[in-house]
Amino acid sequence: MHPYQRIHSGSRVVPHLVKGQWRFEKGPHTVTSPYTGQLMLELKGADRALVDEAIAGAATGAKEWAQVPIKERTRVLFQVRANILERMDELRATISYESGKTLAEAEAGVMKGVEVLEFALSLQNLDQGGKMEVSRGVHCEVRRVPLGVVAGITPFNFPAMVPMWMMPIALALGNAFVWKPSEKVPMTSQVLGECFTKAGLPPGVLTIVQGGVDAVNAIIDHPEVRAVGFVGSTPVAKAVYTRTTGLGKRALCLGGAKNHIILMPDADPDIAAAGIADSFTGCAGQRCMAASVVLAVGKVDGILAKVAERAAAHRVGETMGAIITRQQVEFLKDAIARSVNDGSKALVDGRTVTPLPGYENGNWLGPTILDGVKPGSEAATKELFGPVLSVMRVGSLDEALAIDDGIDFGNATSVFTSSGAIAEEVARRANSGMIGINIGVPVPREPFSFGGTYESKYGSGDITGPASLAFWTDLKKVTSKWTMPKDLNWMS
Ligand code: NAD
Repeated sequence: MHPYQRIHSGSRVVPHLVKGQWRFEKGPHTVTSPYTGQLMLELKGADRALVDEAIAGAATGAKEWAQVPIKERTRVLFQVRANILERMDELRATISYESGKTLAEAEAGVMKGVEVLEFALSLQNLDQGGKMEVSRGVHCEVRRVPLGVVAGITPFNFPAMVPMWMMPIALALGNAFVWKPSEKVPMTSQVLGECFTKAGLPPGVLTIVQGGVDAVNAIIDHPEVRAVGFVGSTPVAKAVYTRTTGLGKRALCLGGAKNHIILMPDADPDIAAAGIADSFTGCAGQRCMAASVVLAVGKVDGILAKVAERAAAHRVGETMGAIITRQQVEFLKDAIARSVNDGSKALVDGRTVTPLPGYENGNWLGPTILDGVKPGSEAATKELFGPVLSVMRVGSLDEALAIDDGIDFGNATSVFTSSGAIAEEVARRANSGMIGINIGVPVPREPFSFGGTYESKYGSGDITGPASLAFWTDLKKVTSKWTMPKDLNWMS
C-alpha cells in the first residue's frame, strides 16, 4: 500500500482557492495514480467566469498586501515554512502518489522549494532601493514595487518545488500570486495552499485555479495579470510566452531539455558512474535536469559498464518511481524500439519490469541505456522524458561540444573529467544555462539562480535568485527637492 492511501482512501475532489475560500467542484476531469492505476481525483477546470472571479479577488488582495511592509510579509512566510515542515509526511505522500516520485525524491523537491522560500525570507534584509544626492539639494531614489497580480503555470514533474520557485519570491516582494497547477498533479496544491493560507496570508493573496489550457489562457488574458511565469514543455512555453508578451505583459517561460553529459576517459569511474546513472534514473528521468545523452569520448567502456550495473540494480516502485501516464510509458517503449531498429544496442532494457506487489497496475518502465545512438536521430535530439539514456560515441571533446551545441535546447551540460583544463573548456564553450563539472544534475543551489538558454527558456532573467527580482517587480524612481539651493545648475 502506498503511504498516501493511509491518509486518503478512494478519490477526492480537488478544489480551487478563490478569495481565500476552497471551492470544491466535481468532475469531469479524472486522474489515476501512476503507482496503482487507481482513480485518485476528479476536478472541474476553471472556466473564464471562475478565473475572472478569482482574479478579482487577487486584485483586491494585491492592493492590501502591497501596503504591508516586507518585514511583516516575510513574517507570514516564516510561518509558511514551519507549516510546510510540519506537514512534510502528507506533502511527501501526496506528491509521490500523484507524480510517481519516490518518497525521498518527493521530500527532496519540497526541501529545494523551502530553500527558495529561505531566499525569499532573506529579501527582508536586502535593501530593495537606494537613494543619493544627484545634484545640490536634489535626491534621486529608487523603490522596488510589486506589480500587483502575477501568475505561475506549473508542470507535473515537481508538484511542490516548481511552484515554490515562484510563489515565495513573488509574495515576499508584495504581489498577489495566481497559481495554475498541472491538471495531472493538482492534489499537492491543496496541501501546499493550506500551508500558505493558514500562515495568515490575507484572502486573495494566493489564488489557485485548477484546469488546463482554457484556464491558462483565461489567466494570461485577464487585464489584472501583469506577469506570467511558466515552467513546462517547450511548445507550450513558446505558446504561453507568445500569447503573454503579445498582450504587452512580461513572461518568463522555462521549457524542455535534452541534457548532455560529456564523459572523458580520464574521469573518476566511481564518481562518473554514480553521477550519470543517478541523473537519468532519478525521478524516473522525468526532470528537466536529467541526463539524456552521454557523449562518450574515446575509450570509456569500463565506466559505461559501471553506469549500466548501477542503473540495472534499481527496483521500480521502490528505488525508482513511476512514469506519469500509461500513454507516456507506451511512447517511451516505442521510442526505445525505434532507436534499436535504427541500430542502437540496449545495454540495459527496462521495457519488461516487475513492479512491487500492489503496484501491478502502475505505469512502469525500468532504466534503459541505448548505446550507439545515431546523431540526428530521435533518441539523440528529442526530449523523451523518461529513464532512457542515449550513448553517442565521439572521437574528441570538440566533437562532443559540437553535438551539444547542435540541439535546440540549452538547459544543462555536464562533463566528467579529472582535468581542470577540460572542465574549464566545457564551462567556457558549452552554451547551456547550467553547467556541471563532475555533477550529473547541476541544479544551482540558492542564492544561485536557475535557468537554461535557447529553447529551454523564453524571456530574460532567471526564475529564482537575485535574477528573478526584476521579473516580479517594477522600479519606481523618485526625484525630490526640499530646499532652494544657492548655486543653481541645470538640474536645479
Ligand atoms: P506541459 O507543457 O504539458 O504542461 C505544463 C503546464 O502547461 C501545465 O500546467 C498544463 O496544464 C499547461 N498547458 C498544457 N498545454 C497547454 C497549452 N496548450 N496552453 C497553455 N497551457 C498548457 O508540461 P508537463 O508535461 O506538465 O511537464 C514536463 C515538461 O516540463 C518537460 O518538457 C520538462 O522538461 C519541462 N520542465 C522544465 C523545467 C525547466 O526548469 N526548464 C522544469 C520542470 C519541467
